[in-house]
Amino acid sequence: KGIVAIVGRPNVGKSSLFNRIIREKKSIVEDTPGVTRDRIYGTAEWLTREFIVIDTGGITLEDQPFAKEIKVQAEIAMEEADVIVFLLNHQEGLSDEDKMIAKILYKTKKPIVLAVNKYDKKTSNFDQYEYMSLGFGEPILISATHGIGTGDLLDDIIHQMPSNDEINKDNRTRVSIIGRPNVGKSSLVNSLIGEERMIVSDIPGTTLDAVDSVVKVNNIEYTLIDTAGIRKKSKIFQNVEKYSYLRSLTTINGSDVVLLMLDASVPISDLDTNIGGLAFEERKPIIIIANKWDLVENKEKEILKKEDEIRAYFKYLAYAKILFVSAHDKTRITKIFTAVEDIRTALDKKIKTSVFNEVLNKAQLINPAPNFNGGRLKIYYGAQVEAYLPTFVLFVNNPDYVHFSYKRFLENQIRLQFGFEGVPMSIIFRERK
Ligand code: GDP
Repeated sequence: KGIVAIVGRPNVGKSSLFNRIIREKKSIVEDTPGVTRDRIYGTAEWLTREFIVIDTGGITLEDQPFAKEIKVQAEIAMEEADVIVFLLNHQEGLSDEDKMIAKILYKTKKPIVLAVNKYDKKTSNFDQYEYMSLGFGEPILISATHGIGTGDLLDDIIHQMPSNDEINKDNRTRVSIIGRPNVGKSSLVNSLIGEERMIVSDIPGTTLDAVDSVVKVNNIEYTLIDTAGIRKKSKIFQNVEKYSYLRSLTTINGSDVVLLMLDASVPISDLDTNIGGLAFEERKPIIIIANKWDLVENKEKEILKKEDEIRAYFKYLAYAKILFVSAHDKTRITKIFTAVEDIRTALDKKIKTSVFNEVLNKAQLINPAPNFNGGRLKIYYGAQVEAYLPTFVLFVNNPDYVHFSYKRFLENQIRLQFGFEGVPMSIIFRERK
């Protein structure tokens, strides 16, 4: 998914535009435990293209002058986004702050869409050339609150957005490592790179970001995403909590498989679950890495306890495999990539309809659906449909009769029978009379 960031000085209408763009698109799972409500990003869709929108105005710095704050916001946009919307306010005209932001944005090679908000037909003397003097071309006139011009703006955004193929040209699996500070992400990267020899990012013909690196494990190459960001932690951004979420989000978004790292030698914290929630919401294949296992005594007894703890905290990640490793001692770290390969296999798997229906029938026999919402669910037949993530359509008497626990039961059955470990799965119920 491409990423669009909205920048502009306070009061130009960034949040209104943000809300207008993500309007009807609610987060997939509203009640994921531990996910922050106070959103500065959202998912949007225009002309069947999905993208992520960031309102950088929501990133604020404590005890910092205003100019610094704007600067940081613009830099974050340049770092994270594929397209930047630079928003101005027509009612107040071009200000010095706008020019300051423009100066920062000159440094980027990313496409910039200039938009002038609070534009009202009645406002006279609109001087397009004044805005064009910023050097970002003709502005698009919009009113975020009234929805005027936002369609044109979205057209332009989509037009400027690199295609998914451009974003990911090589066919290495893209792996990201996320987790709160100090769980051992950099140590894992260092162990991998140290052991397996890193190929630095400027290989001709590849589109690796400067922050990505390639490692070879079990003779297969993987792109580790954002390893530089993990290795040298930027001082300004480190303490901006919202930014660290955003960073995790964009990293997750760009990866095929997510490694969610925990420090297994200490109890799980809210920060761990918040970050896990992000990966879940982005519907990515996930492997849970319980690191620092070398520090734990009585391993055989503790492993069961730890697994229970992790499962209890990450109920929504029931599909994710848990691996106990030590990045420090390099114990079991290659197992991580065996699990990544299992996920790739699962993503490529196509289940024969006849076999799928046998499993469906058996599942209904051993555990018939409960009475729910005034009736009992009856599944007539089902099939896997073409999709990136495993997706199954089940034809039933009435989709309203589906109890969520029964859906979960079916999901588990399919997962177990066909080995879809580690990947999110979709089951869609359709009525068939
Ligand atoms: P990051 O913030 O997630 O990148 O965490 P770091 O890789 O910087 O690790 C934080 C601290 O944990 C460092 O002092 C590491 O040496 C230590 N550490 C990382 N992995 C392990 C491990 O597997 N075992 C032990 N004992 N310490 C570890």
